Amino acid sequence: MATFADVLNRNPALQRRLFFLARRFVAGERIEDAALAVRRLNAQGLSASLDFLGEDVAREEEAQKNAAVYCETIDRIAAENLEANVSVKLSAIGQSISEDLAFANLQRILDRARPNAMFVRLDMEGSNTVDSTYRILDRALGSYDQVGPVVQAYLQRAAADVERIIARKLRARLCKGAYKEPADVAIAKMPLIRRNYMELAERLLLEGVYPGIATHDEYLIDAVKALADRHALRPDAFEFQMLYGIRPEAQRALVREGYRMRVYVPFGTHWAGYFYRRLSERRENVMFVVRNLFGG
Ligand SMILES: Cc1cc2nc3c(=O)[nH]c(=O)nc-3n(C[C@H](O)[C@H](O)[C@H](O)COP(=O)(O)OP(=O)(O)OC[C@H]3O[C@@H](n4cnc5c(N)ncnc54)[C@H](O)[C@@H]3O)c2cc1C
Repeated sequence: MATFADVLNRNPALQRRLFFLARRFVAGERIEDAALAVRRLNAQGLSASLDFLGEDVAREEEAQKNAAVYCETIDRIAAENLEANVSVKLSAIGQSISEDLAFANLQRILDRARPNAMFVRLDMEGSNTVDSTYRILDRALGSYDQVGPVVQAYLQRAAADVERIIARKLRARLCKGAYKEPADVAIAKMPLIRRNYMELAERLLLEGVYPGIATHDEYLIDAVKALADRHALRPDAFEFQMLYGIRPEAQRALVREGYRMRVYVPFGTHWAGYFYRRLSERRENVMFVVRNLFGG
C-alpha cells in the first residue's frame, strides 16, 4: 500500500501546495531557505547540521542528484562561513540500489567536505540498513576521518556498537531511534529506551569523542547535565542536538546556560517521510499542525 510519503513524493504539485503543513519542521525547499535558517540560528549562538530531504531513492539518477545537492550545500556553508555541517541519509544517495553506488556518492560529498575539514554525519535509518551503513562508513574512514555514525538507543545492538565506536575514536550522535522496528530488534518501552540511552550517553561522554546528545527529552537532558557536572566535563566536550522547529526556546536556553547546541535543519521538497515521523512521535506536533490548518 502506498504511504503518505509515496503519494506526496509522486505528486510534486500537491507536495508544494501542502508544504505549509511542514513549515515548522522543514526550513524550506531550497538551499537558500536552509542557509537563511542557519544564519538565524548562528546569530543566536546555535550551530546546525543540514539535511537534504529524501530517502529510499530507487533510481540512480536521483541518487546522483541528491549527492550533487549535498556538494552544493557544503560549498554554500563554506562560502557563507556558516557554523554548520551536513547530515546524510545513505538511502538518499543510493544505498537501497547498491552499497557501491552509495559509497561512490558519499566519496563525492567527502571530497567536497575535505578542503573545509567539514564533519559529515551519516544518519542512521531502519535497522535493516545499520550493518550496511557501518560498512560504508568503514570504507569512507579509509580516506577521511571527519565522518561519523548515529547510534539509536532503542536498538538491542546499540551497546556493542558504542563500544566499537569508542575503540575506534569515532564521533557519534546518540538518539532514541525513529523507525518502526520489530520487538526482537528494538526496545519498545520508553522507560527502558531512556535507561539504555543514559547508559550509552555515559559511555560516550566519559570515553568517546565529542558525542552529539540528540534529544528533546527534558528527563535525558537533565540527566546528561547532572552526569557532566559530576564528572566535571567541559561544556565543549560534547554538544546537545535538537531538530529544527522542536523546542526552539529550550535550544536557546541550553546555549544561555553555556552548553553547545546543534540544530538539525532539513530542507528540500521530499519532506513527507520526515514530516510523518515527527507527527508519529508526538501529539504536540500533530496539534501544532492542526492549529495551523485551522488558523488557530
Ligand atoms: C538532532 C537529531 C538527529 C536525529 N537523527 C536521527 C537518526 O539519524 N536516526 C533516527 O532513527 N532518529 C534520529 N533522530 C530522531 C530520534 O531518534 C527521536 O525519534 C526523536 O528525537 C524523538 O525523541 P526525543 O528523545 O527527542 O523525544 P520524545 O521521545 O519524542 O519526547 C520525550 C519528551 O521530550 C519532550 N518533547 C519532545 N518533543 C516535544 C515538543 N514538540 N514539544 C514539547 N516537548 C517535547 C517532552 O518532555 C517529551 O515527554 C534524531 C533526533 C535529533 C534531535
